[in-house]
Amino acid sequence: MPRLARRMGRAKQSAIMLVAERARQLKAQGRDIISFSIGVPNFLPGEHVYAAAREALASDSGQYGSNRGTDALLDAFLAHLARAGLEGYTRANCATGIGAKHVLFNLCEALLEEGDGFAFATPYWTTYADIGALLGADVRLLPCPPGQDYKLVPAQLEAALAARPKVFLFNNPSNPTGMVYSREEIAALADVVAHHPDTWVITDDIYHRMVFDGLGYHNFLHVRPELRDRVIFVDSLSKTYGMPGWRVGFMAGPEPVAAALTALNSTHVTNVPEVAVAAAIAALSGPQDVPAQKCAEFQQRRDLVLETLSHIPGLVCPRPQGAFYAFPDVSVAFGRTHAPTGLRIDNDVDLCNALLDAKGLACVPGSAFGEPRALRISYTCPAPQLAPGLQRFREFFAELS
Ligand code: PLP
Repeated sequence: MPRLARRMGRAKQSAIMLVAERARQLKAQGRDIISFSIGVPNFLPGEHVYAAAREALASDSGQYGSNRGTDALLDAFLAHLARAGLEGYTRANCATGIGAKHVLFNLCEALLEEGDGFAFATPYWTTYADIGALLGADVRLLPCPPGQDYKLVPAQLEAALAARPKVFLFNNPSNPTGMVYSREEIAALADVVAHHPDTWVITDDIYHRMVFDGLGYHNFLHVRPELRDRVIFVDSLSKTYGMPGWRVGFMAGPEPVAAALTALNSTHVTNVPEVAVAAAIAALSGPQDVPAQKCAEFQQRRDLVLETLSHIPGLVCPRPQGAFYAFPDVSVAFGRTHAPTGLRIDNDVDLCNALLDAKGLACVPGSAFGEPRALRISYTCPAPQLAPGLQRFREFFAELS
């Protein structure tokens, strides 16, 4: 057989998807599995979204759509941007893609040459590192340990940007940590960004409607609108509207960047499928109460998760204030044995495997996010499973010798 392209040696399936897949297989074999693994919202979009999709199906001409996104979709996105306090954009500033993941890949492809610096904080969403590796970028990780609440601090960003990476990617609220930057923290980081004009900044804000404790959502552009010529905002319908499988993502930024993404769409995918476009317009333009309700529910779930974790001696969990993840430092388990099964735990992967084998509980090892002292709990499972899943977690730690 002829060889695959060399770059495929750097391409891999997401570690999160692999854990989720293993949990699914065990469930299919009849095991009682609770999954805290993949970050899928536990709700569906409203009936108005399905109605719009059905109508599109009934009337769809089945032709190709727009590379950038239809005018109606871009207008709905512009209204969404305005709700997020990001005004003054036009359709020419925007482009769509098959989910934020595709938009982020396209942005990196459009901005990064091979070997260009690509900086982002650790812990990071797995895909950032995968994109950097696939494109042959010089990935520069900015370590943000638990003692720093997993957050970037200005001096650290200053040092990173002084080395002139081509792209700095910033994720707020964060997957996997659930951390949210306050307005003061954003302003301090934006001051640093302002002094480094050679770096593009991508803000992946797909969880921005899920912020707890009244902290509010803040973007560099809120505090320094003059950064508009190099800050690129990315969002998607997946988490906010309970529509991960519909695969609709967006960006807003300088016109040449949006034009570049339109050209890449033309080559890669042509257009977001028209039925998904109709559904997305309905979600963005319809009642906006679901995201707010869900945010309140996730805050309650966060409280339950933190309450449970607080009973585990030695475990440290910086307080998440957004998204639907907790990212405890679980290194207290390393070097110990799960007494009932004899499973030895030397690292985060052993721990997640043992949790799954012994308790039927799926979590994602922190090393998938560049932080091997931790694991990620995604607390979006069906409501009746949350308390039992947390109970299994607590029991497991109590059984370590
Ligand atoms: N960015 C972050 C931080 C995410 O957590 C995810 C999905 O988990 C994405 C982007 C991708 O979202 P989408 O479903 O729109 O591709």
